[in-house]
Amino acid sequence: MSKKTTVSIIKCDVGSLTGHHITPRPLLDLAEKHLAKAEEKRLINSHYVFHAGDDLELLMVHQKGEENPQIHKLAWDTFTETSEKAKKLKLYGAGQDLLKTAFSGNVRGMGPGCAEMEIEERASEPIVVFAADKASASAFNFPLYRIFADPCSSAGLIIDPAMAGGFKFEVLDVKENKKVVLKCPEELHELVALIGTTQRYTVSRVWRARDDMVCAATSTTRLSLIAGKYVGKDDPVAITRAQQGLPAVGEILVPFMHSYFVEGWMRGSHWGPIMPVGLKDSQCTVFDGPPRMVALGFQVCDGAIACEDAGKPMISDLFNDPAFDMSRKEAMEYAAALRRMGEFEPARLPAETLEYTTLPQVLEKLKDRFKKA
Ligand SMILES: [Mg+2]
Repeated sequence: MSKKTTVSIIKCDVGSLTGHHITPRPLLDLAEKHLAKAEEKRLINSHYVFHAGDDLELLMVHQKGEENPQIHKLAWDTFTETSEKAKKLKLYGAGQDLLKTAFSGNVRGMGPGCAEMEIEERASEPIVVFAADKASASAFNFPLYRIFADPCSSAGLIIDPAMAGGFKFEVLDVKENKKVVLKCPEELHELVALIGTTQRYTVSRVWRARDDMVCAATSTTRLSLIAGKYVGKDDPVAITRAQQGLPAVGEILVPFMHSYFVEGWMRGSHWGPIMPVGLKDSQCTVFDGPPRMVALGFQVCDGAIACEDAGKPMISDLFNDPAFDMSRKEAMEYAAALRRMGEFEPARLPAETLEYTTLPQVLEKLKDRFKKA
């Protein structure tokens, strides 16, 4: 099959059960019905509906390319209908990420998050998709650096001649809405100088340098910048390709052997430790967290997800593994240390990051009581 294949993951918080904790079954079932119908009509070739905490995640494999209006409309309609259902059930935050009403061909800039990658299928095409809850758009900066630029993490950078030329990172400046491409290893230090500033810079794409083969894509939506106020955390998604001159699946997962910190957690206003979990634990509880991350692995085969004989897509729940127990324990230890700090920095995000939350209203109330010191 010569036609290119596109992997799209589009997500939205359409409303959740018991506060911001989980996307409940009726919403998942309704989304499943929508995508199954689209598959019947051959608009998409494969799909998998799941959730990361309170975010409804639509994984779709098709041959219509990136930013295709039909695919984006399918996602938008699915989110609109599931939001309506959430409203009827009086679920919490029903439709909270649908920031605009009139759909105009693309979900970007309308609230839902979206990562897409059009690929030329290799002989074998292993893919890992990640989805986070209670985390900001830059939650993948650190692991993507480890996967594609850190030879102490990805042995292939040292051992595999096919990876020796390194990788190119597209970095988005979300404040200025500009982007820059940096080539590693040559510009490794510049890359870290930028993407270490997670509030401002987000890795949006990665290519293999020697042939510009795309190998990672992330969602970069900053909800607060669209809405002009805090409406929920970005809860980003990412797609990575693996093996055969790219990092192995194990090299893609090893950065999650330890927890690390992201912005998000309670009210999107705190630093919180990432906890890698299987789908069964994809729910946010303690202080609306800790921020969770799920990882699903599959093979792309002739424009679709490789299936079992009965047609069910074969999906591997990669963090559903005792190998990540240590990281989960670390996450709880970090979480406890931060919560001991209460509302004192660095547990709470710095004031400039909170400008879109309700904190400025609190400060406004005190404004006239300040006297010259
Ligand atoms: Mg969420």
